[in-house]
Amino acid sequence: MSTTKLQKKRIATSCITLPLKKEVLEEIVDKAKDWALMHGAAMRSRTKYEHDTLTLAPFILLPSPLPKSEFEKAVAIQPTLNELMHKVAHDYDFLKESLKDTIEVDDFTKNLFDIYEIIHSEGAAQLLSLGLIRSDLMLESVCPNVDDISNLQLDDLEQSDDNHFRTYCCWKQVEINTIASGFGWLGPISAAIQRFVLSELGYYEKLKNLPDNNALSGLCQGMIKAWELYNTKSAVIMFLVEDVTYNICDQRFHEFEIHRLNRDIKVIRRTLTQVANNAKLGPNKQLLIDGCEVAVIYFRAGYEPGHYHSQKEWDARLLMERSLAIKCPSIHYHLAGTKKVQQALARPNTLDKYLKTPEAIASVNEIFTGLYSLDFDEYGERAIKMAMENPERYVLKPQREGGGNNVYGNDIRDVLLKMKDTPERTAWILMDKINPPFTQGYMIRPNNPGLPEIVDLVSELGIFGAIIGNADTILYNKQLGHMLRTKLSTSNEGGVAVGIGALDSPYLIDDMD
Ligand code: ADP
Ligand code: MG
Repeated sequence: MSTTKLQKKRIATSCITLPLKKEVLEEIVDKAKDWALMHGAAMRSRTKYEHDTLTLAPFILLPSPLPKSEFEKAVAIQPTLNELMHKVAHDYDFLKESLKDTIEVDDFTKNLFDIYEIIHSEGAAQLLSLGLIRSDLMLESVCPNVDDISNLQLDDLEQSDDNHFRTYCCWKQVEINTIASGFGWLGPISAAIQRFVLSELGYYEKLKNLPDNNALSGLCQGMIKAWELYNTKSAVIMFLVEDVTYNICDQRFHEFEIHRLNRDIKVIRRTLTQVANNAKLGPNKQLLIDGCEVAVIYFRAGYEPGHYHSQKEWDARLLMERSLAIKCPSIHYHLAGTKKVQQALARPNTLDKYLKTPEAIASVNEIFTGLYSLDFDEYGERAIKMAMENPERYVLKPQREGGGNNVYGNDIRDVLLKMKDTPERTAWILMDKINPPFTQGYMIRPNNPGLPEIVDLVSELGIFGAIIGNADTILYNKQLGHMLRTKLSTSNEGGVAVGIGALDSPYLIDDMD
């Protein structure tokens, strides 16, 4: 960990003076909800699913303040993170070494790894991969002027200055997503809702502080670039989707945007089961399904065990990996995005192998927070002891994606007590809990009558990136845009689709200190 003194900076609590008058709030909330719903800030309901009915996605009424310099820093680092993930994905030995204990006990990761081994030994038909990556970051507000954050007692934090919860020192990475990195649509539309609200309230001069966000277009341009590299005019882009898609607006707007950018490209949607039933490989390993040749596969499914109902769906994944289609992601990219690999990357001196300049290495190291393996060795034992003694300082994570899988607070103790003498523990990682600064605002939820109250909120910024290349060459590497998810400061997780988090966007302010 860095021995430089961490300096704290202040953050404003809201972009306009709150609270709003009752009559103003009543009117603007109702209007903003309709605007959001009518412009596609919506999803299918999980509690009352109807195929043809959309429900409003929860959103924050006004954009959340974020220091401009920090936003720019997060954006600037993305191409380096893209390059890092690309290189890690192509490092067979590193992936194998990092995941070797995990695959002994985690069947899902083992199934993915088995496919990787098959492709690695056969040789891939398609050497290019498309990475549509999202790096998720939170500002850290617990910034002691010491070089070891873990030495700090939580009591010290409670007693620090009144404003400690509104100060921060640096970004910390929550995780990096290499599969189904969603919110390319819901990110930009969140700013559009909030622009509408600020305009309706007469704050026109504030609109310039909401940064442009071309995430949707950028992600689609990445897919189109891959389609062009495949170089077959009649070939399609296939979205691999869940059996039931709740986050339908986010997915469909990608589809519509591809059509807007290039009318010649057809997009089809298929589930893993449909691929299993209907796809086959052509003479040159082309992926053929229902009369179409597939140029690019964009995975919005396949990242959790529930998506694979039987061996059939695993066979479908293998078939796709064996094919000539450009996968987003290919299997090695999927594995590079696992939490175990994230933890292995945070080990001292690991980045030196992948990043060329000391500046790039330092900038990535700076956003890594403490990540610890639970292997059966001296480090793993130490991590278990730390977590048992101070569970509130950590998050315990299994090898899963999609939210709702992590363990927090005292539950960490219970889970560790159960598994600490079993091999299962090696499939988990321990991570320092990030403590983001609070901001304040109104959270608007669907079907929630009554006026919203001002609540304490915390945000997670996601920066999108695209990368295309093979083991030797990177052909395309871009930062594409962003998304902001905000939750109550009291919630552990912030899934928008599961109704805990809300759509939001940054309101850029000059640094206050
Ligand atoms: P998933 O793959 O399920 O999205 P994440 O690692 O992103 O897993 O964790 C889910 C959520 O849990 C995050 O969006 C964030 O709100 C919270 N979270 C995860 N790691 C941390 C952490 N180290 N500190 C604080 N909150 C965290
Ligand atoms: Mg996540």
